[in-house]
Order: sequence, then structure tokens, then C-alpha cells
Amino acid sequence: SEERSLNFLEQIVEEDIAKGINSGRVLTRFPPEPNGYLHIGHAKSICLNFGLAQKYGGQTNLRFDDTNPVTEDTEYVDSIKEDIQWLGFQWAKELYASDYFEQLYQYAVELIKKGFAYVDDSSAAEIAALKGTPTEPGKDSPYRNRSVEENLQLFADMRAGKYPDAAKTLRAKIDMASPNMHMRDPIMYRIKHAHHHRTGDAWSIYPMYDFAHGQSDSIENITHSICTLEFIPHRPLYDWFIQQLDIFPSHQYEFARLNLSYTVMSKRKLLQLVNEGIVRGWDDPRMPTIAAFRRRGYTPSSIRTFAERVGIQKRDNIIELGLLEFCIREELNKTAPRVMAVLDPIKLVITSYPEGQTEELQAENNPEDAAAGHRNVTFSNTLWIEREDFMENPPKKFFRLGVGLKVRLKYAYIVECTGFDKDENGNVTTVYATHIPESKSGAEGSAMSVKGTIHWLSAAHAKTAEVRLYDRLFTVENPAGAEGDFKDLINPNSLEIIEKAYIEPFLADAKPGERFQFLRKGYFVADVESTPGKPVFNRTVTLKDTWAK
Ligand code: ATP
Ligand code: MG
Ligand code: MG
Repeated sequence: SEERSLNFLEQIVEEDIAKGINSGRVLTRFPPEPNGYLHIGHAKSICLNFGLAQKYGGQTNLRFDDTNPVTEDTEYVDSIKEDIQWLGFQWAKELYASDYFEQLYQYAVELIKKGFAYVDDSSAAEIAALKGTPTEPGKDSPYRNRSVEENLQLFADMRAGKYPDAAKTLRAKIDMASPNMHMRDPIMYRIKHAHHHRTGDAWSIYPMYDFAHGQSDSIENITHSICTLEFIPHRPLYDWFIQQLDIFPSHQYEFARLNLSYTVMSKRKLLQLVNEGIVRGWDDPRMPTIAAFRRRGYTPSSIRTFAERVGIQKRDNIIELGLLEFCIREELNKTAPRVMAVLDPIKLVITSYPEGQTEELQAENNPEDAAAGHRNVTFSNTLWIEREDFMENPPKKFFRLGVGLKVRLKYAYIVECTGFDKDENGNVTTVYATHIPESKSGAEGSAMSVKGTIHWLSAAHAKTAEVRLYDRLFTVENPAGAEGDFKDLINPNSLEIIEKAYIEPFLADAKPGERFQFLRKGYFVADVESTPGKPVFNRTVTLKDTWAK
């Protein structure tokens, strides 16, 4: 990897190790809530948590933060595990915050006994009304001074399911005048008669994030608990619970969440796109999910490289989608075999080449990789070429085909255009040319040169494929920050399906996940929907940054 200076988290870890804190042990965790598929922001967090631990000889736990029964699902648990492993990381332990429900309950009882928690009968609105504002102190709840005995009984009754949803809460007794709103007697438990994906109907009370997260970190002896900036104001509460309970002192550190241009990252919004059929599923290649990037042809290493290049910031910003594209393009340039595919075909007939004759020409698989070798491509007198490679009235400097113009057919001959046919609608159907036999690539005389080279396929030999071209999902850089409904900003042209493109014959058997460069057209991957004889290709990325201003 590239040389760079230490980021602030690495500095913290190195200082802790130097001071002998936790005997130099480093244990991080990645704590997804299983309420959706992981997105590229999560990938950033995964690379950070696992990468930091790896660098300092430590480990990382995968902890499902499954304290909210309503939105969670085992489908998401499975996809999360698959995505982390695909990215190239392996957790030390697979854990569930829900496995700590009993321990968390006991912690809450302990806080009640110490006089640091009470049961409040106030409604959410009443609690909000007494909360105060950032500049004005709040007021004590009328239930704040209940006795320990009464609180213990009421809390036990809450657990036993005696009360309906939202009838009572358990609150930490801290300071209603704290300048930090999170310290104004935050709610620790709420009543929710809901089925949980792991604990079933065992619980009718569920801990709030602030009471569950830090205590879960502590139970696992996490040394460095890394989260995003919005949790900075939660940190005093994180520390307060640990202190009052006198349990293992995990510490929270914050970095800026990753935002990517032209997409949204909130799982709630991504779920809407899926549920409303705006995309074809969580792994629709236009989505910013890890599953979508995988399907689109991104490699794990390109995403890790991206995460590394983005770095660790302490201030929120939006990263250019172009950086992610740069990372995959750079990698595929070295690794992807070059092949020919014609996406918008018209015929080219070489009138000087005998009809019915064929010859096998040598094609280089990858000029960036000498070990990639060669393959044969079949040449004949009737070829498919791209419609855009011919112009009826070519301007100066059009170095492709037009009557009287010459071009090289890749791996083959230089041809000169002699004419063309049009259909009744005025569309060009067939272009005619003659070839220069001594210009054959690799042969004597092949030093002859022309300015342009185009790709082609022998019409009698080419196979067909469906090709899917993707563009950014939104029309604006920051759809999440725009006014109104973010769905109004969807790019209507984010998916173009070419039902019948032509490909080299061997590509008809490409296996899902196989990657290629279609010469001049971009990098493509065989889609999961590909079947033998009915291939489907996704464009991973174009060859050049077509969005550059
Ligand atoms: P969302 O708002 O999309 O639901 P979340 O933060 O609620 O995101 P979690 O499943 O709780 O999603 O996230 C798991 C971990 O990934 C957390 O530690 C969280 O901080 C981190 N994470 C989530 N989104 C990003 C992001 N955009 N950039 C960096 N880290 C992120
Ligand atoms: Mg979360
Ligand atoms: Mg969330």
C-alpha cells in the first residue's frame, strides 16, 4: 500500500500501545444494524475497523446491533456477513447485542439500585415538553424521585409485559440542566411488544441505542469503539454509563461518515428505492450497496483502495463518485482481458475480400499483462461495426469511416470506405469497403498506418448478448441534501438496456462475475442473470472519466 502519514485514529492507537493501555491489545468492532444491506459507507467503516486492528495485531468483532425489533431481519444478517467476507475481512467473533439483553437488564437494575435510573410514566410528548432547549435547562419529571423499591418493581413489571407500548420508560437520572441535551435524563428502555428476529417474544422492553451500545462494547472488552461524527454528543453518556456501572472502559472515537456524490446512503431511503420498484433490488448495480458494486463488477480490492484513498476525516464532506470509478478502472486496466463487442451494430461488407472465406487473426488479450497471451478472432467479409464509427458526412478529423476514409480494423486490415446503403427511414444499414491485403496486422507491410482503429466482429460468427449500461442514479450531486422528495431527483436514464449486442463467441459462456474490457466501450462483467448461451453483461465503468467537466 501507499506511503502516507498516520491518520488520527492510528495515532491514538499508537499512543495507547506506547502507554501500555490494555497491555497494547486492540479490539475493534463493526456494529451494523441488520435493517438493510451494507452500503459503500459501511465499507468505509469495515475497512477502517478491520484495517486498524490488523495493522496493530488486533482483532475485530462483528456485532449485530439488533436492539430495535421492528426493522430487523435475518435476510439482512446473512447479506451483511457475505459482504464483509467478500470485502476480504474475517471477524473474530459473530455477536448480537440481543444476546446481551439479560446482562443489560441487570445493568439497568444496578443503576436503579444506585439511584441513577427511574421509571417515568410521562408520555413522549410530556418528556419532550420538559426537556428544555440547548440554551434553557429542562425541568424534572414528576416521577423523578420515585423510591428505589418502587422503580425496581415498576421496571420488573415493564419487563413482565404488564403495560402497553410507550406507557412507561426507564430513564437515567443525570442532570436536567446539562448543556448536553443527551445528558438530560436520557431514556434507557422503552416498552415495545414486538417480535424480535432472535429473541422472539421473550422481551417486551428494548434498550435504547445509548444504553445498549457502550455496554455491549464494554462486555466485549472493545478497546477502540469507532463511530461517526453525529455520536460526538453521545460520548459523555457513553462514558457516564460505563463509569456508574464500573465496567470495562471502552472508548468511543468519531470520524466523518462517507458521503458519495450522486447517490443516497441512508438505509431508509435505499429501502424506499427497493420497495417502490425504482430499482430492481438491493443489488441493482445502480445502488450504492456493496452487493450492487459486486454485481456491477467492482472488485473487493478496488473498494479497499477507495476507502484508503478517501482517508479518515473529522469533518463531513462528499466524495466524488469519480474517485471510486478511478479505483476500479485502474485495477481493471491491469487485469481485464480485452475483447471486442459491438453495442450498436451496423454491417460492414468488405467487397474485396472473398465471400465465404475466413481467417483466424491473433488478438492480444491484455497489452498491460504479457502473461495474458493471445486468442484467435475470426475475420470474414461481413462484419458488425459500431454505428458511430461511420458518418455519412464526416467532419474533418473524423478518423473513422466515411466514403473515401480509411481506418484500421483492430488486429486485421486497413479498409477504405467505398459506399453505404440506407433504409426507407434514412438509417444507414450497410457500409461498404475494400481492404488493403498487405496492411494485415503483424504481417510485412503492416507498418502502414492510419489515424483511427475500430473494433468489429464477423457477423457470421458473433454471438448475441444483453448489455446493461448504467449511469449515476441521481441527477444532482447531493440528493440527500436537496429540498423536497429525493425520489424526484432520480436520473430517468440511469439504466439503458441493449437487448441485442454482438460479442466474441467465447463470451457467450462467460461465467457470472467474469470481467472484460470491451475495447473502446468500457469494462464489463457477466451478470448473475447470465446463463450459458444467454449472456448478460453489466458495464462496470466507462474507459474514461466521461463526467469530467
Ligand atoms: P444508516 O443511516 O444508513 O441506517 P447507520 O449508521 O444507521 O446508517 P448502521 O448499520 O448502524 O447504519 O452502521 C454500522 C456501522 O457503519 C456504524 O458504526 C456506522 O457508524 C457505520 N456507518 C454507517 N454509515 C456510514 C457512512 N456513510 N460512512 C462511514 N461509516 C458509516
Ligand atoms: Mg446505527
Ligand atoms: Mg440507521
